[in-house]
Amino acid sequence: MRKTRKRGEKTARISLQRCGGYDSEKVFKAVKKAIDDLGGIDRFVKKGDRVLLKPNLLVSSRVDKHVTTHPEVVRATLKLVKKAGGKPSIGDSPALGSAVKVAAKCGIADVAREEGVEVINFNRPIDIDNPAGAQFKKFKIDEAIRDADVVINLPKLKTHGQMTLTMSVKNMFGSIPGTRKTQWHLSAGTDRMHFARMLVDLCHKVSPQVTIMDAIVGMQGNGPQNGDAKKIGLVMAAEDPVALDVVASEIVGLRRDKMLTTVAAEEMGIGCTDPEDMSIGGESVEDCKIGGFVFPMVVDIMSLFPWFLRNPLRDWLTSRPVVDRQKCELCMVCANSCPARVITAKNDKLQFDLKQCIRCFCCQEMCPQGAITVGAGPLAKALRL
Ligand code: SF4
Ligand code: SF4
Repeated sequence: MRKTRKRGEKTARISLQRCGGYDSEKVFKAVKKAIDDLGGIDRFVKKGDRVLLKPNLLVSSRVDKHVTTHPEVVRATLKLVKKAGGKPSIGDSPALGSAVKVAAKCGIADVAREEGVEVINFNRPIDIDNPAGAQFKKFKIDEAIRDADVVINLPKLKTHGQMTLTMSVKNMFGSIPGTRKTQWHLSAGTDRMHFARMLVDLCHKVSPQVTIMDAIVGMQGNGPQNGDAKKIGLVMAAEDPVALDVVASEIVGLRRDKMLTTVAAEEMGIGCTDPEDMSIGGESVEDCKIGGFVFPMVVDIMSLFPWFLRNPLRDWLTSRPVVDRQKCELCMVCANSCPARVITAKNDKLQFDLKQCIRCFCCQEMCPQGAITVGAGPLAKALRL
């Protein structure tokens, strides 16, 4: 296993490079400039290194839906790695289906074939200890992650029903093979901070050497699968995934204290979370900010109420999955993805047992029809919270 990055890093360099679209040459130029700004690919990859690229391969989806990391971002990274003498491969553990199938649908398999690189499905779990973890001391990750000399994190900037945004830190959740991810949702229950802390500990354990974020076109609204494309026009890169997420959140207009993985990282002393301690290369954060980015409705207002009222009011206040019956085709993908097993169909209608629902929003994430959204609880709605 590679060395885990030092805890408590207090400074970080982030590179922001403009990129107007997915033209192969333009993307390569932007990715190369971003990596050069961090010291060049030779800083991260040595001759003969086994280099694992970890894109976001959530589910099978066409490239123009912007659900997965764009193949041209993967291609540009592969070219750089090969130039440095590294031996690259591409791997992930999608939420649904295999990495090979997802890569075939979104075009990454074509790039892999053209570049002579293998796509690996993460299905070989191994136990790893995480003694330096702030809270989580053991993980089951894929063997390919453990065996790589270098991991390059390739997230896509998208909205997320539970975590608000999925970016650098959240992308490493795919290091956990297959359905084992479900167990983490169950153990976190309704506690979003618990889940965020686990994501931070896992990302820190895997310690990707560098993260290159596809924010050329991101996803807003009902992400991470069924939102709308939003042009951001950036390739962003950093060694520190926590710091990169801080900057990316600021660019799309999410306050740092609303990004739970950032809050968790700050509390756990992992990564750099203070913009004052970051140096920015390429464009300035101010010039890159985009207005009107649409976030999912994540209503977590329990903390506004005294503890003794929280349990009785929980169902009235917290966000919940809401199904659009016109769009629902009763395929039951959501039910099969639900860690708490609380979705059933009765009289041709989908039903949620909200008392048992842990608000992980895996159902919203997985619905192929975009029929599930995150809605406010009735009291929250009435009080316009
Ligand atoms: S996954 Fe979507 S379409 Fe399928 S049953 Fe659930 S809500 Fe309906
Ligand atoms: S119903 Fe949806 S939000 Fe609730 S536990 Fe199941 S998957 Fe999670």
